[in-house]
Amino acid sequence: MAKVIVDVPAKQTDRPFDYLIPANLLGCISPGMRVVVPFGPRKVQGFVVAVETQSSFDHLREIIEPMDIEPVLNEELLYLSDWLTEHTLCYKISAFQVMLPPALKAKYEKKIKLKSRPFIHELDEAIRPFFYEKDILHWDEVLKSGQLSVFQKSTAAGKLEVLYEVKERVKKKQVKMITSLVKKEDLDRLEIKSGKQKQVLEYFADNPESIERKYLLKTLNISSSVLKSLIDKGWVEETVKEVYRDPYEDRIIQKTEPLKLTNEQSAAIGPILSSIEGEKHEVFLLYGVTGSGKTEVYLQSIQKVIAQGREGIVLVPEIALTPQMVNRFKSRFGDQVAVLHSGLSVGEKYDEWRKIQRKEVKVAVGARSAIFAPFENLGIIIIDEEHETSYKQEDNPRYHARDVAIERGKRHQCPVVLGSATPSLETFARAKKGVYKLLTLSRRMNDHNLPDVQIVDMREELRDGNRSMFSRILHEKIEERLVKKEQIVLFLNKRGHSSFVMCRDCGYVIQCPNCDISLTYHRFNQQMKCHYCGYEAMVPNVCPECGSDHIRYFGTGTQKVEEELGKIFPEARVIRMDVDTTSRKGAHEKLLTAFYEGKADILLGTQMIAKGLDFPNITLVGVLSADTMLHLPDFRSSEKTFQLLTQVSGRAGRHELAGEVVIQTYSPEHYSIELAGEQDFDKFYQREMMMRKVHQYPPFYYIALITVHHEELLKVVDTIEKITRFLHSRLSRNTLILGPVASPIPRINNKYRYQCLIKYKREPGLTQILKEILDHYGKEAHTNGLQVSIDTNPFILM
Ligand code: ADP
Ligand code: ZN
Ligand code: ZN
Repeated sequence: MAKVIVDVPAKQTDRPFDYLIPANLLGCISPGMRVVVPFGPRKVQGFVVAVETQSSFDHLREIIEPMDIEPVLNEELLYLSDWLTEHTLCYKISAFQVMLPPALKAKYEKKIKLKSRPFIHELDEAIRPFFYEKDILHWDEVLKSGQLSVFQKSTAAGKLEVLYEVKERVKKKQVKMITSLVKKEDLDRLEIKSGKQKQVLEYFADNPESIERKYLLKTLNISSSVLKSLIDKGWVEETVKEVYRDPYEDRIIQKTEPLKLTNEQSAAIGPILSSIEGEKHEVFLLYGVTGSGKTEVYLQSIQKVIAQGREGIVLVPEIALTPQMVNRFKSRFGDQVAVLHSGLSVGEKYDEWRKIQRKEVKVAVGARSAIFAPFENLGIIIIDEEHETSYKQEDNPRYHARDVAIERGKRHQCPVVLGSATPSLETFARAKKGVYKLLTLSRRMNDHNLPDVQIVDMREELRDGNRSMFSRILHEKIEERLVKKEQIVLFLNKRGHSSFVMCRDCGYVIQCPNCDISLTYHRFNQQMKCHYCGYEAMVPNVCPECGSDHIRYFGTGTQKVEEELGKIFPEARVIRMDVDTTSRKGAHEKLLTAFYEGKADILLGTQMIAKGLDFPNITLVGVLSADTMLHLPDFRSSEKTFQLLTQVSGRAGRHELAGEVVIQTYSPEHYSIELAGEQDFDKFYQREMMMRKVHQYPPFYYIALITVHHEELLKVVDTIEKITRFLHSRLSRNTLILGPVASPIPRINNKYRYQCLIKYKREPGLTQILKEILDHYGKEAHTNGLQVSIDTNPFILM
């Protein structure tokens, strides 16, 4: 009998159901496998969580068929899913699914492949005949054979492997190739009238290999009609060739050797190494300024782990998953590294995941979800830039990768290393209390100084008659660099600062019809877009409110800055990096490489250029408006501002040339900007901790956010009021309940949103109480669309 969690995400089905294992599958079903089971009138997918001999129920239905030949979730991950469910209040099935690569979530065609021809002799006789004439069997054939257990054994022994045919992979990149069919010695016998055609055949006489069509046309400067007549005459042939897209394949990666550690680095790595050696779980905060050599500490810690025969996970923020960062791991550990990030196709992600599952690699480098890499013998988990908010998932299950890392670290008895130049307040507070071990790298490599930072008050600029988006000092410094041929990074904080469309006569701002938020103007297609629901519209010619035709867009987008740069510094070559210029696969890398190779003087961009850039020729960083994030309704806004400014500043002067930073702001007196200018995290930490204490926010209090969504305002208000009353009746007196209030964005996609925020220090029964709320309203979601969501550690309070 098997206990199965079915793929029906609902309150009533969030528990295991018992199913009989049919006789022909006895011994073939184990925990962590997916199966197809009958559920009511339907067939659904499910995960086996346990196999037992007895059930307390009668009349069990049978498992229809297995979906896997070996478990896709190991014992530890099954356990981890219990933990996830409990901590994020999600359904069991959501917890399983978040741990698997997307190829295993949807229905993809599954096949069993003989790994290599000679293995056929090593297969059991019962299944050998299946592979006499082909290497690949359909899953159906495997199921029908009645020999599943034999297939399983051969798979476990590495003779067979499972393939998932993902639709995307069919759309492999293809190129057209041209091959000549005319032999060199036959050339003279042909009657070739057209000189162009002759030219092509003569080219092939000297270069008999096939050539990509595109290059042929370009090299010989001929038109496609010339080629067409050659094809028609049968003199050349056009074929299609598939090219495999491994994003890291064609780069030559040079092997690097461990560097001799500095004294500071040695002192920092010591405790990590002894934790690895002693197989002891500890959490370290590696607190080191930008450029202090944290990555080398990661690399050498992993080296130790590999030497012990264990494995490591390295998390980096998605934006920082640049080839530059990935290469540092690949060049040290070669093909022992799997890379997981969102730029990969579904098939590529599955391939990387499979390398981990098959123990072909020792290290996984990836964004948030790589924390679920199915290693069985973890020796270290590293989270770089641990303060990054992208480590928190905002959809169900709303987990934070840091918490998952610590949980896995406990199970595997291995260290967790959190690295940052600007740790989150929560982490730093824990390190100060000794809950985490604090390791410090206080100096930049080779004692390069941190760059000089100058803060410019933009209000004064305006008072002095400068209406440009560049202060006089920044203008001057840009000019200087252009003359000296040094490089400049200009940073524009996009969040909370997008451009909007407004009528100059009546002040009307164009709003999204579905959400209570203004539309963002996109210059490249003259459209306005809602970033919450995706609504798009053309910019109207006249104001919908007053009919005036003075309708303009406002705000500073990167495009506008680029235009302005073109006017002021016409000689400067600018590369712009934002969502518009980097949406195509590989674009991000191309732009950075071009900048690295000196093909531009100025790199202009948003958040995505704040991290990981380590280019020697950057000597000036300009932040165009530092305070755009300060005024968001978020208790972390000061912290985020400080972190971002410090990160951006860290891009300058990392090598021989000294760096300078100019920060332009309208609130120079704000402590997060002032202290970012002084690059003084410790002082910032003290100030911000005071604020958090006064306003009762983390790390002094825990918070949980409840949001109600529905199309009818009254229903939303009524529900949130009931919930708030319920909370008041059940929670302790020291707990604060803020609200109910309308959410900062009160309507998204035509659904109204109200929320209440719980702040507490100790509330042992809270999980239970929140579950009760979810259970109570979970039933309503199906009948009337009322949605109640709870985030037990919210990062976005909107
Ligand atoms: P962080 O990760 O703290 O920002 P990095 O690891 O990028 O710092 O180090 C900054 C630079 O110093 C890199 O170019 C790196 O190769 C170099 N570096 C790091 N450790 C050493 C060392 N022990 N000896 C020499 N160079 C080092
Ligand atoms: Zn108007
Ligand atoms: Zn919208």
